Amino acid sequence: MSELIHVKLPDGSVKEVPSGTTALDIAKAISPRLADAALAAQIKPSSNGDSPILVDLTRPLDQDVELRLLTERDPEALEVFRHSSAHLMAAAVLELFPETKLGHGPATENGFFYDFYREKPFTPDDLAAIEKKMQELAKQDLPYAREFLPRTEGLERFKAEGDFMKCHFIEQFTQPDEKISIYKTGKFTDFCRGPHIPSTGRIKAFRLLNIAGAYWLGDEKNAQLQRIYGTSFYSKKDLDDYLNKLEEAKKRDHRLLGKQLDLFSIQELAGPGLIFWHPKGGLIRKQMEDWMRDEYLRRGYSLVFTPHVARTDLWKTSGHAGYYAENMFTPMELDDAEYRMKPMNCPFHILIYQDSLRSYRDLPARYGELGTVYRYERSGVMHGLLRVRGFTQDDAHIFCTPEQIEDEVVGCIDFALEVLRVYGFEKYQVELSTWDPSDQKTYAGRPDQWELAERSLEQALKRRNIEYKTIPGEAAFYGPKIDVKLVDAIGRLWQLSTVQFDFTLPERFQLEYVGEDGKRHQPLMVHRALYGSVERFFGVLIEHYAGAFPVWLSPVQVAIIPIGEKHQGYAYEVGEKLKAGDLAGWDCLQRGALSEEAAQRAAYLAELKEASAFSEWLFGEATATFPGWGLLCVSTQSLLAVREHCRSIGEVATPDGERRAWRWYDPDVLRTAMPTLLAGQLDEIFALNQALVLPEADAWTWLTMENGVLSTDVRPLMAPSR
Ligand SMILES: [Zn+2]
Ligand SMILES: [Zn+2]
Repeated sequence: MSELIHVKLPDGSVKEVPSGTTALDIAKAISPRLADAALAAQIKPSSNGDSPILVDLTRPLDQDVELRLLTERDPEALEVFRHSSAHLMAAAVLELFPETKLGHGPATENGFFYDFYREKPFTPDDLAAIEKKMQELAKQDLPYAREFLPRTEGLERFKAEGDFMKCHFIEQFTQPDEKISIYKTGKFTDFCRGPHIPSTGRIKAFRLLNIAGAYWLGDEKNAQLQRIYGTSFYSKKDLDDYLNKLEEAKKRDHRLLGKQLDLFSIQELAGPGLIFWHPKGGLIRKQMEDWMRDEYLRRGYSLVFTPHVARTDLWKTSGHAGYYAENMFTPMELDDAEYRMKPMNCPFHILIYQDSLRSYRDLPARYGELGTVYRYERSGVMHGLLRVRGFTQDDAHIFCTPEQIEDEVVGCIDFALEVLRVYGFEKYQVELSTWDPSDQKTYAGRPDQWELAERSLEQALKRRNIEYKTIPGEAAFYGPKIDVKLVDAIGRLWQLSTVQFDFTLPERFQLEYVGEDGKRHQPLMVHRALYGSVERFFGVLIEHYAGAFPVWLSPVQVAIIPIGEKHQGYAYEVGEKLKAGDLAGWDCLQRGALSEEAAQRAAYLAELKEASAFSEWLFGEATATFPGWGLLCVSTQSLLAVREHCRSIGEVATPDGERRAWRWYDPDVLRTAMPTLLAGQLDEIFALNQALVLPEADAWTWLTMENGVLSTDVRPLMAPSR
């Protein structure tokens, strides 16, 4: 008779069962429905403090454990499900292409992949065939069966098959007298620790997405592998939602839009990871930089400018030449010394701080710079504007006393939230990375410094009522930090602002200030960047807005549409007049190209019409024709009625979900302007600093030259005011 063990369930109940009972047996005893829904199990031995592990439902339990049965509702199950999907794919590949050799196939953040070696590359048709075969194998509901083999036998078996990668993994990850774990799905056998879901029939919604090349062990001297990426979900609806999101992301790809809208490029002749800002991109950058510098000054920062290179001696003092060396460009010899491009601005700002003796009265000192830095990235990892070798940080360093630090952090948070608001991001997540006090050796700084720093970060978040997640052990070795991640228009997360303490640099550079007590003290130092990198933030903006920037950022703030060929000259005249005012950029759109081109640009459209007809048009046809356009409207007949109507809506969501604010001129100002508008004399409007679009009479019959004109953002060229 077998021994009895105790299995504790999450509700606190304890079942006494014979040793060898499986999680599946227990699920069945609870309810057949639970047994059907379960995908895997999590066990934690009751006897010791080991962390819980995931196991197959069919694994026999042989000691007292705490057990959780995992279903679709448990986030941990998804990884098991997707890794099992990778096995299903490998099984299908072997059925169709038996000569294929196998690498490994983990779950990823959004799906799974498997690495294969095969001389002939897989084609898109092959992918379709593999997917079809996967469907067949899923229908057969093949179990994921686990076996244990003596290591030598396993090695021989994979060697006989020529599976050089599997042999490598076995040799790498198992001990000579260990038994190795094998999973079988149909004809496919994998060296794998698992766990897996019970059978292939559970995988109903999946899609193979693409093939990428990868070198075996990341070494280009080795065989080139083919990595097939796919994804799987529990339901077809979830899969469809994900595929739609991918499609949407593809349309928003900043590399594609950057080319289409002529914003930036990367030049082969100049080298990878170095960004060329074209005139239209340059105009956006000017707005971003101007806004940031103005905001620096408004918030009590000082503007500084520092060089791009410095002697290696400086990087030795700062420590970068040691622990950061592999991220730096290689040294340059000049007559007097060795120089290196700067990977960070911090040591430069420190030199400015140190240039004279500071007193407590000089603090806080906030030095801000749009500083261009150079970092070495491997050629394989660079990606458009998002990962580059040269970029400009909106970088500032704050030096202050312990008494000032909490207010300084609050100031940084307020500033970061203002960036989000101004650039149109409504959602964000905040993370607080702290140290691991049980592992003090890995960190620089004293416990009292860490305590003060973490407390001030926490207090600052609390003072602003910001929800945040604390991540213990995630701090950099030199200090704790707050990270702000924004959520873009299609729900993706992007790391944006950082507020980071530094305990090492003040020490290394022996920073000081004279305190109220007349003695020398070491200031606290905080690094903070809010855009992060201007290049990367620009990439995020392009994708967030799908190229249709808000007016103040748009390189084409006004699209002028000439009524016909003969009005073209006049349209240019108008454009130049606008530019002579305060307008950053305008464009003259050609007939025919209108809707497509215009959809990419922020422009204002105005019409003068009866209020009743106006609203019908505005909320029907116009929003459908120009999703994403900000429509500003005036009505000669009943301005106030229209204004009230729009005000009651406030913001309107256009069909693609894009939201544009409605803003209204003071009616009195408009009333004064109206007679001149009607007369077709536009000059007053320019003086009022308004955006303008002339309607295309042929295309929209309800608009005519006499009474179709002008729009009205009070300050269309500025960032949203607070
Ligand atoms: Zn596996
Ligand atoms: Zn810094």
